[in-house]
Amino acid sequence: MIVTRFAPSPNGPLHWGHAYSAIVAHDLATQAGGKFLLRIEDIDGPRTRPELADEFRRDLEWLGLEWEEVPAQSTRLESYQSAVDRLLDQGLLYPCTCTRKEIEALEPRTGPEGFVYPGTCKGRLLDPEKPAALRLDTDKALLSVGEVRWDDALAGLQTADPRQFGDVVLVRKDLPASYHLAATLDDAADGVTLVTRGQDLFFASHIHRLLQHLLDLPVPRWHHHPLLLDESGKKLAKTRGSKALADYRRSGENGRDWADRLRIDHWPSGIELGSA
Ligand code: GLU
Repeated sequence: MIVTRFAPSPNGPLHWGHAYSAIVAHDLATQAGGKFLLRIEDIDGPRTRPELADEFRRDLEWLGLEWEEVPAQSTRLESYQSAVDRLLDQGLLYPCTCTRKEIEALEPRTGPEGFVYPGTCKGRLLDPEKPAALRLDTDKALLSVGEVRWDDALAGLQTADPRQFGDVVLVRKDLPASYHLAATLDDAADGVTLVTRGQDLFFASHIHRLLQHLLDLPVPRWHHHPLLLDESGKKLAKTRGSKALADYRRSGENGRDWADRLRIDHWPSGIELGSA
């Protein structure tokens, strides 16, 4: 059975890009007689605004979607901790206290997520007195891994290449998991078989595939869809003034009609589909 999910973070209102993503995930599952899940990814510290989760549910209802909701990330901290313990036992994590500024000052190479951490803290031992982020020792992790592949429904078979990111943070200083760890564990726990999300997260799947290998998790397929872009060719973002779905909803527009238009590639004015 195909199981997809929409996994928004309540740190800003949903816009058309989210609507498109949710519709793609919903339709891929329901057209195949599968299940569409909603998961609220609410562990983004002070950026999280819990009241937005209800707005998200109203937006999805307005679009005419039906879903099954699975527990929000904030209720799953124990499962993140046990995965972290397992990686610690394997000696694959090290504490890092470097600030972004310190890393930038070293003029590191750039990867798909921005600066690649140059490994300054590698080899340090955990000190319970000193709060620190935990990074994956990617080279060490790869020693135990042969070639691992992952399959994207649109882009085809990929060979996982997590080295391009360097040693990513799996546990933030202020949070029990980073996006990469939490999303990978949750998708496995929720039985997601087709991870559907925008192409802006395509590269993250190289890391997620490695984590699945290290933690013996089931391997889904992926579907990274193109993004909705604004007039300047950038992906939609609240910070660039993309209008919230809730504004359309409150002004009495018909969300089901909007959803049907998106399904046949009729975009709201000033918006196009493309690759950012
Ligand atoms: N929570 C992430 C976001 O809102 C999405 C994560 C995912 O789909 O893997 O950008």
